[in-house]
Amino acid sequence: MSQKAKMPKSKSESSGGEKSDTSQEDASKRKSITTAKRKSQENKGKSKIISDLSSSETSDSDAKKKKMQEKNDAEASGSLSEAVKKSRLGAATSVSDFKFNKKRVRLVSPEADLKDDALGVVYWMSRDQRVEDNWAFLYAQRLALKQKLPLHVVFCLVPKFLEATIRHFGFMLKGLQEVAEDCKGLNIPFHLLIGYAKDVLPNFVKEHGIGGVVTDFSPLRVPMQWVSDVCERLPKDVPLVQVDAHNIVPCWVASNKQEYGARTIRRKIHDQLSQFLTEFPPVTTHPYNSKLEAEPIDWDKCYASLEVDRTVKEVEWAKPGAKAGMDMLHSFITERLKFFNADRNNPNRQALSNLSPWFHFGQLSVQRAILEVQKYRSKYKESVDGFVEEAVVRRELADNFCYYNKNYDKVEDFC
Ligand SMILES: Cc1cc2nc3c(=O)[nH]c(=O)nc-3n(C[C@H](O)[C@H](O)[C@H](O)COP(=O)(O)OP(=O)(O)OC[C@H]3O[C@@H](n4cnc5c(N)ncnc54)[C@H](O)[C@@H]3O)c2cc1C
Repeated sequence: MSQKAKMPKSKSESSGGEKSDTSQEDASKRKSITTAKRKSQENKGKSKIISDLSSSETSDSDAKKKKMQEKNDAEASGSLSEAVKKSRLGAATSVSDFKFNKKRVRLVSPEADLKDDALGVVYWMSRDQRVEDNWAFLYAQRLALKQKLPLHVVFCLVPKFLEATIRHFGFMLKGLQEVAEDCKGLNIPFHLLIGYAKDVLPNFVKEHGIGGVVTDFSPLRVPMQWVSDVCERLPKDVPLVQVDAHNIVPCWVASNKQEYGARTIRRKIHDQLSQFLTEFPPVTTHPYNSKLEAEPIDWDKCYASLEVDRTVKEVEWAKPGAKAGMDMLHSFITERLKFFNADRNNPNRQALSNLSPWFHFGQLSVQRAILEVQKYRSKYKESVDGFVEEAVVRRELADNFCYYNKNYDKVEDFC
């Protein structure tokens, strides 16, 4: 095996500086989602009656126009994906030629060196369920390329998670299906293991001679416990590292303590954005083949195995998967961004990004959304700045709160 790769040392640092400039107070920003839903349902009902009364000629031409519009939209959003692909290639042709910011990475296990005679590297995917624009995936590929080893992606499917319903799990599973297909195209086997990571992942690592495990980061209690349980059960010579692929400024770098509001974390994040808000290199077709192939996945069986509330049905407006997430980003930029500043608290206007579902499951990187939205700053300065405030400062403040406050879900700790 080539020279041993070292996993990075755990790091945590913060930059000082607080700013008390005002943005809208949280209380004044609460949106009336129920009213909006009701209004949109009423409106939907109305437009249906009107279209029923109109002549068939008009409906035909309307249908044609709609089809044409949909085709144009699809082409335009396809061109966003193409442009993004080119941007990634502009950053580097492969992650091995890219200057990876190691502050995104921290060592979880005591062992730092990749195991001798390793047969592969694993990216244990959890919170960031996408292939591209994922620093954890990229870091795992970088390690594997450096060591000339095969790369594997493992996802551990649990039968339930907190209060999540089939609406959440259905969205997640369909997104994972796309991940599995994309991995196949890149010669990176994707393994869906059924069960808790502590019960299935260490065995997988032992059985297949995996030399190092990379995972992503979530500050919530349950996934933090998954990581420490896996770390305890992994063979002692197999290192585990964590990469914050969800926040733009890694949570442990943004601040080393609990921040009390957007006003105290804003400057810390903005001061470090230039260092972290960079273009991503692409994940490339992996050149090292593995003897271990991915088992075919029976997605229907996975779906059926879930022990979740099935009365809360899946929604139609939010199509799962990274490609659909990119389409939603495209529609935000072209249709709603211009109204974001003025109308983001107005439930009667379509002004929001609607990106929450894709962000939540990590199917779309917030960093990608910011990189694309920022291109419109000279045109819509207030809207772009407003979106950065919500999607970066406020979102990352939420991660900071959960990471540093053990009672993040107890009402008494909100005050
Ligand atoms: C007073 C208030 C408090 C909120 N607190 C949270 C919170 O603690 N955690 C959370 O995930 N969402 C929070 N939200 C965000 C909000 O409930 C939904 O995430 C958002 O409206 C979903 O729509 P969107 O994806 O179109 O968001 P957009 O308004 O287009 O914003 C883009 C993304 O930024 C993030 N975001 C927006 N506003 C906030 C915010 N205030 N705090 C944190 N992230 C934000 C979300 O990830 C969102 O998807 C809060 C909203 C308000 C008004």
